[in-house]
Amino acid sequence: MREKIEKLKQDAAKAIREKVANLGELNDIRVKYLGKKGELTAILRGMSQLSAEDRPKIGKIVNEARAQLEALIQEKNEQLKARELADKLSSERIDVTLPGRQRPLGHLHPLTLTLNRIKEIFLNMGFSVEEGPEIEKDYFNFEALNLPKDHPARDMQDSFYITEDILMRTQTSPVQARTMQSHEPNSPIRMIAPGRVYRRDDYDATHSPMFTQVEGLVIDKGISFADLKGTLETALRQIFNDKVGVRFRPSFFPFTEPSTEVDISCVMCHGEGCRVCKGTGWLEILGAGMVHPHVLEMSGYDPAKVSGFAFGLGVERIAMLSYGVDDLRLFYDNDVRFLRQF
Ligand SMILES: [Zn+2]
Repeated sequence: MREKIEKLKQDAAKAIREKVANLGELNDIRVKYLGKKGELTAILRGMSQLSAEDRPKIGKIVNEARAQLEALIQEKNEQLKARELADKLSSERIDVTLPGRQRPLGHLHPLTLTLNRIKEIFLNMGFSVEEGPEIEKDYFNFEALNLPKDHPARDMQDSFYITEDILMRTQTSPVQARTMQSHEPNSPIRMIAPGRVYRRDDYDATHSPMFTQVEGLVIDKGISFADLKGTLETALRQIFNDKVGVRFRPSFFPFTEPSTEVDISCVMCHGEGCRVCKGTGWLEILGAGMVHPHVLEMSGYDPAKVSGFAFGLGVERIAMLSYGVDDLRLFYDNDVRFLRQF
C-alpha cells in the first residue's frame, strides 16, 4: 500500500512538472488524482477495509501525498498564469513608432465651390441669401411672377407637376415672391435665392432635368437699369476675371420689363471665336430685367413708389466655364477621378 501511494504521487508529480502545458491540462491532472473519483481519493475511500492498526498510518501518508500534490498544482498554476499573461502582453503590444492611420479627407463638390463663390460675391455687395421650398405652389412658381395659367410663356419651362397646383419649382424666383410677401410693402430688398430647380429636359452635355440656379432681386426707391448693369458687370468680373467683356441684349421674360440677356466675352478664346462660343466670341451667361409692375403689385408693392431689377444665372454653366468642363453630366456622375481635380 505504501509503495502504491508513493508510485501514484511520483506519477502525478512527474505529469505536473513535465507534461502539463496549459491550465486545462493541469485541471485534468487534478481531477485524475484528487477529484471525487480520483485515484488518491479512491485509496482514502477504501481505508475502511484496513486494520485499525494500519488505518492512521496509511491515512497520514495519503494526506501528506495529497498536500504535496496540491502544493505542486498550485505552484504550476501560478507559473502557467504568469506565462499566459506574458504571452498576451507581447502579442498585444502596440508599436508606438508605427505611422498613424490616415483618414482620407474629402472636399466640396465643384458645384458647391462655385455656388459658394457666387454667394460670397453677392454677400459682399450687401445681398442676403434667401431660401424656399423645392416643391412649390403653382401660385408662387408662375402666377405671382406674372404667368397666369393660360400664359404661353409657361411653355418655356416644361414642368414636373405633382398635383394640379403643386410642382417641382422650375426656377428659384418663387423665393423672390415669398420674400416680398413676408416684407412690409415697399420696404427695400436686396437678396439672392440659390437652389435646385427642375424642368422636363433632356439629359445631355448641356442640359439636365435638375440644375442649380441663383436668382437675385433688388427693390428700392429709384432703382434703375443703370443699377442692374453696374451690379451684374461687377459680379461677372468677380466671378470670371477683371477683363471679361459684358454686353446686354434685349430679350423677353414675363416677369421683367424691359428684359435683357447678358453675355460675357468668351473665356476660352477671349472673343476671337471658338467651339465653345460657336465662333461668336460671346457666351450667354444670364437673364435679367427690371421687375414687371404686375409682379410688384401682386406681392403688395406699389410700382409708383418703388422699382427693382431681377436676374437669374445657372451655377452649372458658370462652373463649366470657369473650370473648362465640357459636359454638364460630369458634375452628377460623382466619378471620384473627376471630382478629385477641384
Ligand atoms: Zn470662344
